[in-house]
Amino acid sequence: MAIERNIRTNESDSEFENRIRPQELGSFAGQDKIVDNLKVFIQAALMRGDSLDHVLLHGPPGLGKTTLANIIANEMGAQLKVTSGPVLDKPGDLAGLLTNLGAGDVLFIDEIHRLSPIVEEYLYSAMEDYKIDIVLDKGPSARSIQIELAPFTLVGATTRSGLLTSPLRARFGIQCHLEYYDASVLAGIVKRTASILGISIDDDAAVEVALRSRGTPRIANSLLRRVRDFAMVKGEGHIDLEITRVALSALNIDSRGLDTMDNRILETIVAKFKGGPVGINTIATAVGEDAGTIEEVYEPFLIKEGFLKRTPRGREATALAYKHLGITPDEPEGTLF
Ligand code: ADP
Repeated sequence: MAIERNIRTNESDSEFENRIRPQELGSFAGQDKIVDNLKVFIQAALMRGDSLDHVLLHGPPGLGKTTLANIIANEMGAQLKVTSGPVLDKPGDLAGLLTNLGAGDVLFIDEIHRLSPIVEEYLYSAMEDYKIDIVLDKGPSARSIQIELAPFTLVGATTRSGLLTSPLRARFGIQCHLEYYDASVLAGIVKRTASILGISIDDDAAVEVALRSRGTPRIANSLLRRVRDFAMVKGEGHIDLEITRVALSALNIDSRGLDTMDNRILETIVAKFKGGPVGINTIATAVGEDAGTIEEVYEPFLIKEGFLKRTPRGREATALAYKHLGITPDEPEGTLF
């Protein structure tokens, strides 16, 4: 279990990340619409000699938001500064970052939904007019000075777009929603990573890793590294389908790539609430996870894969969920089947 959690959240290995992170739009796989549109917007901004409009990237973790922010800065020939919502807790922190940006530079704010309201307000005028008002001193001697900023591009990333205030959202001229990746695109990403890391892997093994990766490149890349460990220790280093299956089952990754929390959510709906419908807050309490996280991180994949349905009366497990859990549904009760 600990291993699975590690696979989903392991971001510490920044050297590894830097080696495998695509650096230009041409090597960013999938998300075709977003990539095509960004190409146009970037080219137009370069032709006009302008900075790119502010970009909001939203979607579940591990789908490429940070990667796209890097790519945008690269393609614009600009510097990238990286920070995150919870780190920027004082307007002074934001002012320090903004005043150091050059024309066209990109400021990436991860988890932008976690900005404090006061910092967010400062951001409004920075985004709109490239100006910020800073209040110096307190009490009677307090005075405000206005600082001009170089025209910059803010790239905001969030897994929880529902938590963004509408004034902030409205200030992003370009808004992109990242979708989970198809297995074929993910298999391509696995093969690309393998070739960068000098790992030899069969095509069917790459597809198997892709199928078990919850539609998420970060998970696919992490699984590839773990499978490589098995191939080195149990075989001769080459990754074939057999060693992949052995490794994935040793890692407790289920055949559909669902992780522990995905399965716990389905089991809860099926076993405790007779398949639903059941409200998101009730599910959240039962599984011990934040309702918003379930809604924005777990649920979209379960719905996409056909395990869960969202109805006006709550969430319902589908026939596929029962089959996946190996549970026979009770006699139909009204709406289920
Ligand atoms: P996010 O910021 O959305 O959590 P990241 O941008 O950090 O996700 O991506 C996670 C990992 O997946 C990175 O190692 C990145 O190299 C890889 N990755 C993400 N999207 C793609 C893609 N479209 N093509 C290739 N690799 C990708």
